[in-house]
Amino acid sequence: MTNEPRSHRLADLTWPEIHRLRAVAPVALIPLGACEQHGRGLAQRTDTTRAEAVADMVAERLSPSVVITPAVPVGLSEHHMAFPGTLTLTGPTLMAVVQELVTSLYRHGWRRVFVLTGHGGNNSAVDLSVSRLRADFQDLHIAWSGVTAVASDVTAELAQSRVRGHSCEIETSQAMFADPTLVQSGWLTRGSAALDDLEPAGRLSRGHPHIHFPQAYDVLSADGNLGDGRLADPEAGKRIITTVVDRVAAFLEGFIALPDRVPHPPVSDERALEAR
Ligand SMILES: [Zn+2]
Repeated sequence: MTNEPRSHRLADLTWPEIHRLRAVAPVALIPLGACEQHGRGLAQRTDTTRAEAVADMVAERLSPSVVITPAVPVGLSEHHMAFPGTLTLTGPTLMAVVQELVTSLYRHGWRRVFVLTGHGGNNSAVDLSVSRLRADFQDLHIAWSGVTAVASDVTAELAQSRVRGHSCEIETSQAMFADPTLVQSGWLTRGSAALDDLEPAGRLSRGHPHIHFPQAYDVLSADGNLGDGRLADPEAGKRIITTVVDRVAAFLEGFIALPDRVPHPPVSDERALEAR
């Protein structure tokens, strides 16, 4: 086999190709998305497509070292259910999906797995799954991240709305770069973009960062978006996504270079006694 696989996507390959590829592809990457409302101008698959775009670019950058599973197209979107068409799993279901995909990869020999979620609503379930998997498979290196969060310094510089986060100028810019067919430019609106736009509960929630007071999106914004998609720009999207790809790829280079994970022996009573 040449060093260039025909595809990095497991679903596009035959089993003999995968058999040869896994010898030179130590990392498996699982993209997670959502099927949820994204304001008036963005398609419901926006988070899935952004995660998949980053995954493809990372795999190409590090080829042939990374394989990608199919993107999971539905996530935890309970907070968007008031809008037509949003689909949601429950937390235990998404955790089971993540754990069973990782277990499948483990059974085929992968010992380094990265979960990349394009949807922040999936974070808690991913974090719990990863901590369970670390305990269950003690020779597995497993890590996870969001997409936008990895470039938070860049997005802070580019953002214009005081309140933003969902289908805002930052997310819409990424969508324009990742796949322009996600965006209906003429339908983009300014959603709630300042604290004064919000109802009292929303204002309290958004006005106190790091205090968790979750609100449904129909309470936060009549159009379903926080921030102003009309300010989006594909060049900004390119800068954000390229930064995410650079940083995830840099992490994965270190991940690949790590020694194999070996189980730590339990702390013995003797050691604890000696430490006294
Ligand atoms: Zn989104």
